[in-house]
Amino acid sequence: MTDAPRPPAASGPAVVETADVVIVGAGPAGLSAAVTLRRMGVERVVVLDREATPGGIPRHCAHPPYGLREFGWIMTGPTYARRLVAAARAAGAEIRAATTVTALRPGPAVEVTSDAGRATIRARAVLLATGVRESTRAQRLIGGTRPGGVLSTGALQGMVHLAGVLPFRRPAILGSEMVAFSALMTCRAHDIRPVAMIEPGARTVARWPAALLPRALGIPLMLNTTVAAIEGGARVEGLCVQTPRGPRRLAADGLIVSGGFRPEGALLPGSHLTRDPGTGGPEVDPHGRLSDPAFFAAGNLLHPVETAGWCWNEGRRVARSIVLGLRGALPLPAPDPAGGRIALRGPLAYVTPRRICAPGDAALDRLILRMARPARGRLSLRVDGHEIAGSTLDARPERRLFLPLPPAGHGAVEVVFDEDGGDTG
Ligand SMILES: Cc1cc2nc3c(=O)[nH]c(=O)nc-3n(C[C@H](O)[C@H](O)[C@H](O)COP(=O)(O)OP(=O)(O)OC[C@H]3O[C@@H](n4cnc5c(N)ncnc54)[C@H](O)[C@@H]3O)c2cc1C
Repeated sequence: MTDAPRPPAASGPAVVETADVVIVGAGPAGLSAAVTLRRMGVERVVVLDREATPGGIPRHCAHPPYGLREFGWIMTGPTYARRLVAAARAAGAEIRAATTVTALRPGPAVEVTSDAGRATIRARAVLLATGVRESTRAQRLIGGTRPGGVLSTGALQGMVHLAGVLPFRRPAILGSEMVAFSALMTCRAHDIRPVAMIEPGARTVARWPAALLPRALGIPLMLNTTVAAIEGGARVEGLCVQTPRGPRRLAADGLIVSGGFRPEGALLPGSHLTRDPGTGGPEVDPHGRLSDPAFFAAGNLLHPVETAGWCWNEGRRVARSIVLGLRGALPLPAPDPAGGRIALRGPLAYVTPRRICAPGDAALDRLILRMARPARGRLSLRVDGHEIAGSTLDARPERRLFLPLPPAGHGAVEVVFDEDGGDTG
């Protein structure tokens, strides 16, 4: 283990340190990148995480399936997180927990705070791997009172797995994507019996067979239903839901507000880096490179939300881009970021990477897309108005779609979802 001593406590000016690569976020993407960078000969790799224990989201997901792609067998999230941390330390990366990055600066440099005080770390490259956060009830526009017992899946899992606290016994779960099923499994494991799973859409977001689980467990699945208001004083006492048959009251003592992931991009607005309006994370090119080419990004920060194995692999691939960048061997960034940006048309939420440049051996080797709403039609990649790839789809939000990377330097590139185009049967 090569973890270095923390810098001395600073009450005055911030301590200035140096590293070759600073990684912000010790989840699967950041930790796999750290291993790859060290194995490729990068001397000083420093991984920073604001949590007291590194490992990212899997630390509090005390259920499988994690690790099949990375370690060859299925394990729970905490075991997986420990394996990732051990691998990064064994490779010679320095991991600093309880260290929050508060600003990103040109140079590149990051400003941090920890118990040791404030510090600035200058580096040759910075990798952002800060993951996602779930939407709050306020972002879901749920009205009513503000009692305790309204939690995201991550907060629920942190309470029951890390703090040993049961926040409720009979909650409802809002959402039906994979993470809502993670909430369901957490409830099952702790003898919490959900009163309903509520989905605003006409179908569950998660694919078969997960979608069969609520029924198998005797939990009503309420489709086309929204939570209009929360009732209660200190604790949740009930939920007003709007169903296709009209309003109804559910006797619940909590609400798990699941999914609605957004990139953890809080560092971007105060920085010099360009934000992607589609994802809310940073705008990147196929090498995972930001508008300032000394900054890179990987993991769920780029695409809310993929599996841990996906993010782990992406961390490794973007780490290789960083090494090429340090050697001056990456293709040049697009000279005019505005001109080199993919345009979106139709009910598409985002496409990443958004900026075009000569792909070379691209870390992000295809376009990942998500829908803003369910739709049927033709998805196509067009260059100067001509389709160069496409397919006819019955598409839903929160499910990944792919297109090949567009060629660089051949005209205006757009991704179009044409609801009148194509017969989806
Ligand atoms: C409830 C739930 C259940 C899931 N279940 C599964 C599953 O069963 N199998 C599976 O494969 N995937 C699962 N996933 C998805 C998987 O956990 C994620 O894909 C994966 O953790 C993403 O890795 P990441 O490195 O991009 O980000 P994260 O794991 O989110 O790590 C990001 C890290 O960045 C840190 N950070 C953020 N901002 C700062 C800052 N300013 N300064 C310092 N540190 C910062 C955070 O503390 C965090 O540790 C689940 C996700 C959730 C939410």
